[in-house]
Amino acid sequence: MQAEPQSLAAKSPFELRVNLGKDVPEADVRTALATGEMGFLHSFTTGSAVDGPGVRLVAWTAGCMWRCLYCHNPDTWTMSNGIPVTLARATEELRKYRHGLRVMAGGFTLSGGEALMQHRFAVKLLGAAQALGIHTALDTNGYYGDRLSDAELELADLVLLDLKGFDPERHRVLTGMEVGPTHAFAERLAARRRPVWVRFVLVPGFSDHPDEVARIAAFAAKLGNVERVDVLPFHQMGRFKWKQLGLEYKLDDVKPPSAELVERTCAVFRSAGLQAY
Ligand code: SF4
Repeated sequence: MQAEPQSLAAKSPFELRVNLGKDVPEADVRTALATGEMGFLHSFTTGSAVDGPGVRLVAWTAGCMWRCLYCHNPDTWTMSNGIPVTLARATEELRKYRHGLRVMAGGFTLSGGEALMQHRFAVKLLGAAQALGIHTALDTNGYYGDRLSDAELELADLVLLDLKGFDPERHRVLTGMEVGPTHAFAERLAARRRPVWVRFVLVPGFSDHPDEVARIAAFAAKLGNVERVDVLPFHQMGRFKWKQLGLEYKLDDVKPPSAELVERTCAVFRSAGLQAY
């Protein structure tokens, strides 16, 4: 197996990272996925205030099967773009920050890419964080939620669940994938009373249709376990990655939503009885 490169830390997930795991033999990748003893990570970043409560250490996994038109990290779509990281090394990162995270009432967030593409690694790393006394959050689109057992759901103290759309056709246009598995995962989390924060990316012309927002809000409110909703305004910070990776970017002409549109969208969630920011 190849030696691990040193640069696990990144200033932000907006650093473009490619081919960092390309020399890992296929058999080793398969073993890593099956055992969770090694994962593929874009990076670790520190100091996030937007990926869960308090100040967060975030591990960004590589690998995602969705193709969201607004994705700001398309370099995380491919697992071989990630750095191969042993569970022991990743756990060491957690250990380094655990006291600071506690002081800042923060914790560890596993994000991506889609973290559950490497669900064995995700389970082990979240478990390692909990064992160190660190609050854990799992940021996921929920598509592979059924890969986690009920007991494994408990390893995430909080789930940051991305609800990107409601209407199946709109959802497919926006993400390339079906919405059903995400809804099924949301309902399972609700049935098990797991705390959830919903994340909704507001993209003018794509996800801002009032009916669509209202249906997402009604769905989230009915679950009964959604503690808050974060309305995340679309931005263009990831556009350069699409260009550098030679991908066709369809949102060149889309502007970030106005403050008024963000507020109006938050109001829809609030009128459904949710806390929205
Ligand atoms: S689910 Fe996340 S990482 Fe995957 S394509 Fe969508 S925005 Fe990008």
